[in-house]
Parts: sequence; C-alpha cells; structure tokens
Amino acid sequence: MTLPFAGAMTTKEAGVIPRPFEYHVPRSLPEAIALLNQHGEGAKLLAGGHSLLPMMKLRFAEPEHLIDLGKLSELKGIREVDGEIRIGAMTTENELIWSELLQTRCPLLVEGARQISDPQVRYRGTLGGDISHGDPGNDHPALMIALDAAFVLASERGERVVPADGFFVGTYATLLEPGEILTEIRIPLPAPGTGYCYAKLKRKTGDFATAATAVTLRMNAGAVDDVRIALTNVAETAIRATDAEQALRGKPLDEASIAEAARLAMSICAPVADLRGDPEYKTAMAGEMTRRALASAYARAAH
Ligand SMILES: Cc1cc2nc3c(=O)[nH]c(=O)nc-3n(C[C@H](O)[C@H](O)[C@H](O)COP(=O)(O)OP(=O)(O)OC[C@H]3O[C@@H](n4cnc5c(N)ncnc54)[C@H](O)[C@@H]3O)c2cc1C
Repeated sequence: MTLPFAGAMTTKEAGVIPRPFEYHVPRSLPEAIALLNQHGEGAKLLAGGHSLLPMMKLRFAEPEHLIDLGKLSELKGIREVDGEIRIGAMTTENELIWSELLQTRCPLLVEGARQISDPQVRYRGTLGGDISHGDPGNDHPALMIALDAAFVLASERGERVVPADGFFVGTYATLLEPGEILTEIRIPLPAPGTGYCYAKLKRKTGDFATAATAVTLRMNAGAVDDVRIALTNVAETAIRATDAEQALRGKPLDEASIAEAARLAMSICAPVADLRGDPEYKTAMAGEMTRRALASAYARAAH
C-alpha cells in the first residue's frame, strides 16, 4: 500500500490497526470446533497469520473472535499411513521443506514449498492456511491438485474427506463450510519413478507467482502413462489443465506434444491484469511454465 505522507492519515485510516477482537487459544480440536460454532460468523481461525493478519490490518477481514490453532498438536506432523502421506494442517512450510519423508517420497511438495515467499513467511505460514485461504496466487492449491490430494474437514457434524480437485471454487472461496476446520491433508504416495516439477515465475523473492505450473508425470514403455497438470494465479482459482493432460496420455512425450499441451493449458487461462503483467503476458508465461514443468518432469521420470 502507498501512504501519502506521514501525518496525512491516522494509523487506523491507513489500515495498519485491526479492529479489536477477542483472542482464544483452544487446547484441543473439539474445543476449537466448539468455539467456532459458539461465535459463528464473527469468528476466524488463525493459523500462521500471514494472510489473515494483513487482511485484518486492511480491514478486509474484521473478526470479533480469533481462534488460534497454534496449540493443537493433533494438527501437526507428517507421516506415512496406508500408502498415503498425511500432513497436519498446522505444519509449516519449513517443516515441509525439512521433512525427509517428503524429500524422498514426495519431492514435488518440497520443491513447491521452497518457492513460497521468503524465510520469514515459511517459518509461520502453514499448509492448511495456504489451502484454506483460497487465494489463486497461493502455490499449494495447484500442488495439491497435481498430487491428487484430499482434505479432511472436521466439524460438529463429524469428518468429511474432499478431493483437492474441485475444492477451490472461486477467489477466496473453497468447499469449507461454516464451522469446519481443515485438519489433515492426504496425498497418495507417488509411485516410484514419478516425474515432477513446480515451475514458478516470480518477479523477486517474496512475491507471488506471475504464473506457475505443477506437474506429476508417469511414463511407461515410452508413452505417458499418467500426467496431472495444475496452474497457479492465472484464473479465479488454481485450475487443472485436463485437456492438456488428455492430449498427452498414451503418447510419447516430445517437443511437439509438450508445445501442444502448453497451448491447451494457455487456452483455459483467464488472469487479471495487475503489477505482474497484463492477461496476454501472464497467459504466455503460464504456457512457458507448463512447457518447462513438463520437460523437467520428463527428465526426472523413470523411463
Ligand atoms: C509477503 C508475503 C508473500 C507471500 N507469498 C506467497 C507465495 O509466494 N505463495 C504462497 O502460496 N503464499 C504466499 N504467501 C501467503 C502465505 O503462504 C500464507 O502463510 C498463507 O496464505 C496462509 O497460511 P497461514 O498459515 O499464514 O494462514 P492464516 O493467515 O492464519 O489464515 C488464512 C485463512 O485460512 C483460514 N484457516 C487457516 N487455517 C485453517 C484451517 N486449518 N482450517 C480452516 N481454515 C483455516 C483462516 O481463518 C484465514 O481465513 C505470502 C504471504 C506474505 C505475507
């Protein structure tokens, strides 16, 4: 934000002081759910605070009650269970990056997390907060779609598990319903030899993507066995490039097929103009990121 000059505005007008709120620190998930129900629309969950607090300072969000999830140890941790990787929603970006399990079994998530913002944000920002926020500029939505993840949503009604593909329904809008908390992210263990890449163009460290593409790729007998492609920050939500995937399946991967997939990915882009560029530039960059992500994933895949 640009401030005119010192003294021209009060700090409140300048949008740096949130409205007063009551701060709650539940010690268990049932307690957090009960607080969320008790305070209804006036309540907001607080995870790392790196998206919510800026919105509160700008008064785009004005919760009367903040429910801090920071003490819920059941929302932390990364483990392998029954062919899945299960990650607690309050796991930070740095904990993803440092995880040996993810480094060896799900390196795409590590590669993606390493490109999020800067070290300060990665110390506090959580996987669950990044997903729940529903910002099309956030990187985890596309990574989750490419990894075929599912989300566990808990409320007073119990738990439901929803796929990442379809969870993001609009800018800052997800399938999370009032009273629900994202507790866990489940990722099917990628088959050995799965190629992967998160190609992200950003103007500088700490910036969101101008455009980015997440790819997982499995080859078999010289042809594409399976591929998933998802794009960041070129539409109202992260989007899956299903036509591009379809065009690649069952065929060898070469320059021509990659170029066609990039063209199909560009055809579903509808970015808005901002400081990162106009729609034409962003769409072209989405194509280029798709081309690079597919080429890198191919180089990393077992053949
Ligand atoms: C300078 C800067 C640069 C950034 N760059 C990037 C970037 O390049 N890529 C990127 O992906 N992100 C980026 N971010 C965003 C950052 O990753 C945030 O940390 C993330 O978007 C939100 O995670 P959080 O844990 O901070 O959540 P919070 O800010 O605490 O919460 C965000 C929203 O999600 C809700 N919420 C949080 N946890 C849950 C839950 N478990 N269940 C239900 N709802 C929940 C909150 O109520 C709130 O509405 C950037 C942030 C900053 C400040």
